[in-house]
Amino acid sequence: MPQSSPKRLLVMMAHPDDAEILTGGTLFHLKERDWELGIVTMTAGDCGSATMGKETISRIRRAEAQSAAEYLGASYTCVGLMDVEVIFNPGNLRRVVEAMRRFNPSVVIAHSPSDYMLDHEEASRLVRGATFALAVPNFETQQDSPAPCGRSTPALYYADPIEGKDPMGARIHPQFYVDISKTLARKREMLTRHASQRDWLRSHHGVDEYLDRMTTWAAAYGAECGFAYAEGFRQHLGHAYPQEPILQEALRGLVLA
Ligand SMILES: [Zn+2]
Repeated sequence: MPQSSPKRLLVMMAHPDDAEILTGGTLFHLKERDWELGIVTMTAGDCGSATMGKETISRIRRAEAQSAAEYLGASYTCVGLMDVEVIFNPGNLRRVVEAMRRFNPSVVIAHSPSDYMLDHEEASRLVRGATFALAVPNFETQQDSPAPCGRSTPALYYADPIEGKDPMGARIHPQFYVDISKTLARKREMLTRHASQRDWLRSHHGVDEYLDRMTTWAAAYGAECGFAYAEGFRQHLGHAYPQEPILQEALRGLVLA
């Protein structure tokens, strides 16, 4: 079991590149502040190509996610679910809890509970369920060589969805913004590691949509809070979850509530 350092943050999202797009700028700040970082995706992105088969594109995208995580200085794990089939059920929950126990985080970032894509919403439910089960000894993951049960419920945060919109188009307002002006260049570089997705969009649209769209969103968020570029987050404050603003304090000087 990894050392129980309080500065351990795990981003658990549906697909390769989600964590980079939604939280990349914040992650580089945390890395500079000596946080241990991990990225977990539910799938290997097997539907992320119009020309390659599932196995081929999954292999490519796992390698891209690994490369992006290495550029950040984070670990990378894929839970092994399939695109469009990320569903909250007991078997999938056990796999997500196992991945979480192996990293042993003190802070977890998940997708917004309301999001444009169902894979993201179900991943959010799976991760929320896993944070609760992490430190429940009688919840057994039934995996090979299971990791030890966690010691306490980690703090849970939700990254704002793309464009800050729920499935009906209504605005989701962040509880706090993080200034990513100084890390945007590294966030862009991290995204370039996902070459298959960038090339796919570039061939369809003729422009570098993949990087430019992310930058446009970060600028739109920044315009709301007075930073050049920003990311938005909300903290899960239900009963039994850490109530302290752990992530906000870790990012002291960069946060606007
Ligand atoms: Zn996604």
